[in-house]
Amino acid sequence: MQLDMLADNSPPSPDPNDPKQKVLVIQERLCQEYGCPIGYFHNLDPLSELVSASLSHRTKNKDSGRAFKQLRAKFPNWEAVRDADTADVQTAVEPCTWPEQKAPRIQQILKQITKQQGKLSVDFLENMPVKEARKWLETLPGVGPKTSAAVLSFSTLRKRALPVDSHHHRVAMRTGLISEKVSVGPSHKILEAQLPEDWSAQQVYDNHEVLMLHGQRCCYYRNPECDRCVILDLCPFGEHVLAAAKHLSKR
Ligand code: SF4
Repeated sequence: MQLDMLADNSPPSPDPNDPKQKVLVIQERLCQEYGCPIGYFHNLDPLSELVSASLSHRTKNKDSGRAFKQLRAKFPNWEAVRDADTADVQTAVEPCTWPEQKAPRIQQILKQITKQQGKLSVDFLENMPVKEARKWLETLPGVGPKTSAAVLSFSTLRKRALPVDSHHHRVAMRTGLISEKVSVGPSHKILEAQLPEDWSAQQVYDNHEVLMLHGQRCCYYRNPECDRCVILDLCPFGEHVLAAAKHLSKR
């Protein structure tokens, strides 16, 4: 369906009221801008990805990456992290935000998995349908839709799940894919439902990555650079910003 819409050379003009059409054109343009397919940035097993994602909440990638590395360096395996003094885990994850909350939370997660599965492993997720796997992951302490999707998509499982971070969410909101009232958590279901069912895990991953990259490199929280944005014609917020700036410059 998407190819028909994009087949001729004229600029595609999706129905602004149909997010499923709009999302295809946004993907097409942003993929051109940022170069799809985007390479996976992690190659972690799902349990390690779960720990990594738990550290990354409201933390810069650089800092959560350092915390994760320190944790791996200090303990020989996840069993040792689970059984360690919480103070030692907290010291290791110091570079991320709220280490005093994240250290005990990670240990709770590792303990709960061990209790439920009889061993510290989430490899069984490989054979679980995505919906079920996400539901199971979200029963773990502090695990919400972003973390469950990250574990399934970013880890070596490479499953078809859409994480939404604050950059992705901001671009989706400004382009009208979601309403301003929808926060990051509930936006996961809405945004994922807009994607074609036949998209591969890579295409779903690309969708997250290009919207996130656009938020980081053009659609800034403050002062988005709408005048050079490749999806300006699809973005009511950007058109409004530019119209207001034009109006001001005439006064
Ligand atoms: S037009 Fe502006 S607000 Fe809209 S997506 Fe582009 S940079 Fe963001």
